[in-house]
Amino acid sequence: MNIAIVGSGLGGLATAAKLIRKHKIDIYEKEALIGGRTLTLDGINENYKKTIARFEMANAFAYPSLDELYDITKGYKIDLGFHLIGGGKKGACVKALREINARIDFIGSRLGYIGEKIEYPMLSLRDKMRMLPRIMQLLFSRRSTIESMKKMSIEEAIEVYGRGKLKLILEIFPRLISTVNDLSKISTSETLFAQREMLGGSPVVYPVGGLKSISNAFAEYIKKNGGNIFIERKVKSVDIEDNKAIGIDGKNYDAVVLDMPVQKIFSVIKEKHFPARWVKKIKGLKATGSMVAYHALNRIDEKLMDKSFVFVEKNDGFDGNAIAGMIDFKMANPIAGLSPEKKYLIQSYAICSPEEAKNRKKWDELKEIINKNLEKLIHGYKKNLEWEIYNTIWHLDGVAKIIDNEKPSVKTLIKNLYLAGDSVNSKGVGINCAIDSANLIDGYI
Ligand SMILES: Cc1cc2nc3c(=O)[nH]c(=O)nc-3n(C[C@H](O)[C@H](O)[C@H](O)COP(=O)(O)OP(=O)(O)OC[C@H]3O[C@@H](n4cnc5c(N)ncnc54)[C@H](O)[C@@H]3O)c2cc1C
Repeated sequence: MNIAIVGSGLGGLATAAKLIRKHKIDIYEKEALIGGRTLTLDGINENYKKTIARFEMANAFAYPSLDELYDITKGYKIDLGFHLIGGGKKGACVKALREINARIDFIGSRLGYIGEKIEYPMLSLRDKMRMLPRIMQLLFSRRSTIESMKKMSIEEAIEVYGRGKLKLILEIFPRLISTVNDLSKISTSETLFAQREMLGGSPVVYPVGGLKSISNAFAEYIKKNGGNIFIERKVKSVDIEDNKAIGIDGKNYDAVVLDMPVQKIFSVIKEKHFPARWVKKIKGLKATGSMVAYHALNRIDEKLMDKSFVFVEKNDGFDGNAIAGMIDFKMANPIAGLSPEKKYLIQSYAICSPEEAKNRKKWDELKEIINKNLEKLIHGYKKNLEWEIYNTIWHLDGVAKIIDNEKPSVKTLIKNLYLAGDSVNSKGVGINCAIDSANLIDGYI
């Protein structure tokens, strides 16, 4: 079959890498770079604001000013924003890269906790032994038992299971997994399935060379196997005939895969081709948001290198009355190759709703929360600060994995038209979800 894939995000690239073993693939990407939301930029340049705006992000703060950063960030490789990949070797991303024999090293770590004091790892052996019976009961319940908890919120689960440190765990990890602060919206079964996927590996990993090493590895494999990737080729329209996708922009294909946040598919395909109820539901699906920050320091305590730390702050002014987040030092490792010699990049984020991410009045508070937690890890970090930047994003995950926000299937109501990426009901969230969509599409094509 001849297949057109619209978008070279990780969902599109992973789908192409999967299907190219049996089919002929053309990928169309509207931007000049591949990778979609997993872009790695060479420093910050005069186009930075425009670039991030295309991915529904805004620059909230910069020190020194953005203009001054053009020079100072030369030699840094900067992802679009904070990224870690959940599940390590067990996650869909690392598995898919293994399938194509990609040689990418990952820096992995356990998680620490920034509370009254810093705990690393967050869970001691004693904690684990204490919680083990209840965690085992939850995690290793039968699939049907977990599925029955689909509509049970984490807020309710805390009432039933949340004693001692397990309460803290349930207050933090579901938020970090779903990128949503409101525990009443997070499904207990989704959280348990996600946690189960992660058992046994490093909970979080980051690729050496930055995120672009992942998209480059897929692209190399696709091209080596005869696929085409056309950049700066914005697709205007999917051609539909008798409820069947027959091509794009007048060029015939046997199947079309759309890899873009699903709320946006109507920019390339007329609403009239779908039932009105479906269109309304898709347009109303909620995404996730955050403030994402980078701090570049000229000194760092070796003990922090590679580690990730989580935090949760009570705050009645935000959805869910709390803000969870993370500060990560994997980028700081010189092996990652992202900063000039003796400069260290720290990435961090604080979760907020998409509406809060767009609301300038919330930006100061989110920034303060990140800084307060960073200060707890590195007292007086500002003394060693080279530069810092804070962006907000209101489309981090295509569709939030939360109750009453049902992700669509990869198979659409139109024959030979499929959806790839992090908006669909594949396993995991973010990058893993985007890449796992390829496995589902492979089951249909
Ligand atoms: C700041 C930030 C932080 C994040 N942090 C994490 C994290 O820590 N962990 C994690 O797992 N995930 C994280 N994510 C989410 C992760 O980046 C996404 O889940 C994943 O990259 C989505 O891939 P995708 O293929 O679904 O879509 P996208 O990456 O959005 O790719 C879609 C592609 O389609 C192209 N396109 C759109 N329309 C057209 C058209 N008409 N013609 C041609 N091309 C088109 C776009 O240019 C884009 O390249 C983060 C995202 C952001 C933005």
